[in-house]
Amino acid sequence: MNARTTAQRVRRGEISAVSVLEDSLARIHAENPRLNAFLRLDEEGARAAAERVDALVAAGDDPGPLAGVPIALKDNLCQRGVVTTCASRILGEWRPPYTATVVERLAGAGALLVGKTNLDEFAMGSSTENSAYGPTLNPRDLSRVPGGSSGGSAAAVAADFTPVALGSDTGGSIRQPASFCGVVGLKPTYGLVSRFGLVAFASSLDQIGPFSTTVEDAALTLEVIGGHDPRDSTSLRVGAPQLVAHVDDGVAGRRVGLVRELFEGADAEVVAAVHTAAEVLRAAGADVVDLSIPELSLGLSAYYIIAPAEASSNLARFDGVRFGHRVSGEDVTAMMEATRTFGFGDEVKRRIMLGTYALSAGYYDAYYGQALKVRTLMIDAFARAYQHVDLLLGATAPTVAFPFGAKSHDPMTMYLNDVFTIPTNLVGHPAISVPFATGEGGLPVGVQLLGPGMSESVMLAGARILERDREGL
Ligand code: GLN
Repeated sequence: MNARTTAQRVRRGEISAVSVLEDSLARIHAENPRLNAFLRLDEEGARAAAERVDALVAAGDDPGPLAGVPIALKDNLCQRGVVTTCASRILGEWRPPYTATVVERLAGAGALLVGKTNLDEFAMGSSTENSAYGPTLNPRDLSRVPGGSSGGSAAAVAADFTPVALGSDTGGSIRQPASFCGVVGLKPTYGLVSRFGLVAFASSLDQIGPFSTTVEDAALTLEVIGGHDPRDSTSLRVGAPQLVAHVDDGVAGRRVGLVRELFEGADAEVVAAVHTAAEVLRAAGADVVDLSIPELSLGLSAYYIIAPAEASSNLARFDGVRFGHRVSGEDVTAMMEATRTFGFGDEVKRRIMLGTYALSAGYYDAYYGQALKVRTLMIDAFARAYQHVDLLLGATAPTVAFPFGAKSHDPMTMYLNDVFTIPTNLVGHPAISVPFATGEGGLPVGVQLLGPGMSESVMLAGARILERDREGL
């Protein structure tokens, strides 16, 4: 049952939040040992929340728009007192002393926070194979990766553990796993959702967003978590977005750009899905035009300088001094070296080295400075495109979910996965992946809709058209 229907029935007293939770936990207990989508559950906390929701309903009060909806949280989101690992060894058994704003808002809307999901360590990766706690399996095909870095959250929704999960998207980490697992994944406009309590990877790119089975549930969740938060200095001064009311607005009269650079080079089935999506939007009244935005092909190189540069700075705090795991050493330098050598996995170390190099004196202008200039070029290119169209359409990922081990030995091949998702992050715009077709082995293929900053309601209405077309299949 999707989130909207669940919440409606709980609010009307037709079903209890406790029974919704027990059903969700039963599915998790049955399947999670195999899938490894959840790293840890907070059954006690979720039960207490469910009882509160039921008590409010019994008293005639409204527990909120997500009443009784079980929700999974990527394990880089802090919840006071609940172990948070970022799928790294370096955080050890760290229990955050504060709760992320998004988590507070979900709880305030009546949601039941059932547990923390697996990810690539510190959200660096595209397959969830970089987790220190073992990979997550793709529920659609257990021999395949679920995508990453929010693979555990995508798998939790695809396996029907919870109707909604939160992830974070720095270069595609919500949209790519959504595509691989056959669910909806939305990256909001930079600044629309507070990052207070999200463990930072690359601060100029990170955004939190929802996974769901329906476009409407993505809209509903974003309404709850979006809007200004004084505790995040990058938070936009806007109220909670109004999205659900516009989800069925359609696309009649909307102009959509089918962007060559956002599907060229992808598998044939993926390219075919994008073209079919264009036809579906056209049939619904949109004016779809072919577009080329050559600057988009520079995104990958710029991202793999900027994201590691910011990561190398953000991850300097994990040194064994104040929190997390510590490996002792003869003096403080030896302690830090031993802690970081033990605590970080290979990919995280690679990013720290890449980033430190790109920021070092003598190379700064050639790498980091250059990447920032490319980013500006991309911002201008998108702005020019949006003078003519309302939305852009492309693929989410070049392939369907790939087998375990297929790319983990070659970082460059893994990075190429992100070629269609990264441009959006560099310019701070929203984008959504909607499950739309099947490709190799019957595996899901998502298509991606992109819009300018704060165009979520138009984008969701477009996504709803694509979703409706699939309902008829
Ligand atoms: N796959 C990309 C990376 O490894 C994106 C990760 C993300 O969005 N968190 O950096």
